[in-house]
Amino acid sequence: MADHNDNFTSATSGSTVVEEKIVQKTTTKTDDAKHREEPATTAEGSGTTSSRDTKREASWPSVLFYIHLNILGVYGIFVLFTHTSLITVVFTFLLTLCGILGVTAGAHRLWAHRTYEASPFLRFMLMTFQTLAGQGSIYDWVRMHRLHHEKFRTVDDPYYSDKDFLHAQVFANIRQLSERQEKLLQTVDMSDLEADSIVMFQKRFYWFLYPILFVLLPINAPLEYWGDTVQAAIFVAFSLRYLIVLNVSWLINSAHFVWGLDKNHKQSDSNMVFLVNKSYWPQYHYLLPFDYQSGEFGSYGSGCTTAFIRVFAAVGMATKLQTMTTEAVKRGLTMAVDTGKPIADCLKQAGIEDMSNLKREHYLQNDRLH
Ligand SMILES: [Zn+2]
Repeated sequence: MADHNDNFTSATSGSTVVEEKIVQKTTTKTDDAKHREEPATTAEGSGTTSSRDTKREASWPSVLFYIHLNILGVYGIFVLFTHTSLITVVFTFLLTLCGILGVTAGAHRLWAHRTYEASPFLRFMLMTFQTLAGQGSIYDWVRMHRLHHEKFRTVDDPYYSDKDFLHAQVFANIRQLSERQEKLLQTVDMSDLEADSIVMFQKRFYWFLYPILFVLLPINAPLEYWGDTVQAAIFVAFSLRYLIVLNVSWLINSAHFVWGLDKNHKQSDSNMVFLVNKSYWPQYHYLLPFDYQSGEFGSYGSGCTTAFIRVFAAVGMATKLQTMTTEAVKRGLTMAVDTGKPIADCLKQAGIEDMSNLKREHYLQNDRLH
């Protein structure tokens, strides 16, 4: 943490008053969050608490599926080292990478948060990749993720846990939604995705695309094209790959337990230093979800998803990449202190002003990336 403090101090030299006010604001925000977390079961508008509305039963098909997938996938590690040809290993790695990119660069950064715009070719490719992840359709994934952001750290968050990382990573994903969550899902604005023909094509034909791309392709290819063993095809190319992609995708919604800035979960400072040096991915991402450089797994401005977006931007298939310079973050924080407006709103406003001043191809200039 010393580095973070040093960076923040030098970055805000001479503005200790601003820093103190920000700390106060953050403390208040944290207190508010606690209030939201504790008896957050109060139904909106009704003023009454109903545990039945928020109760989430176990989804037994999901539980059984998850247990079996873990057994098969873990056995796949053994098969990987004993009965698998190198070409199947490479094939599995590529499918795994494509599946993860489909969720991170596609469902998350493109469709859920609109951090950039993509050409029809890139959208079609990302749709195919996302199907390879076996996470349900883009439409359903985005709807759940938008609700997750909207209700972050309340019982209405589909990935909520008041306990620990394991509960958010696994148990929240193998429970049915509560009655209230089902209702809230219907209120999520999905009009932008409904206007996207590629997203709606996948939604409509998902149960046709899923078995072909996600199940048959990885199992059939090693058997048919390079004569690998049935064990390698089923346990490595299918089960182990699925287990990895599933857990990486779930991590997007539970990473705040690992890399988050929360005193209840991890020792840390209580100031806004993470915004200035863009560390602590979850806090940065939940306040500035429009930044395409927010890495899903604890990094900012690096990682293969950010590189993937930049490569497609360089060839003109990804455009209007949204980001924010450190100077703009500082301006947004100062604005929040001076005006008393919500920090998220001030950051957004500073970000919009900043984007209009950025050079068109800022994503290719290293000095403007951080
Ligand atoms: Zn997000």
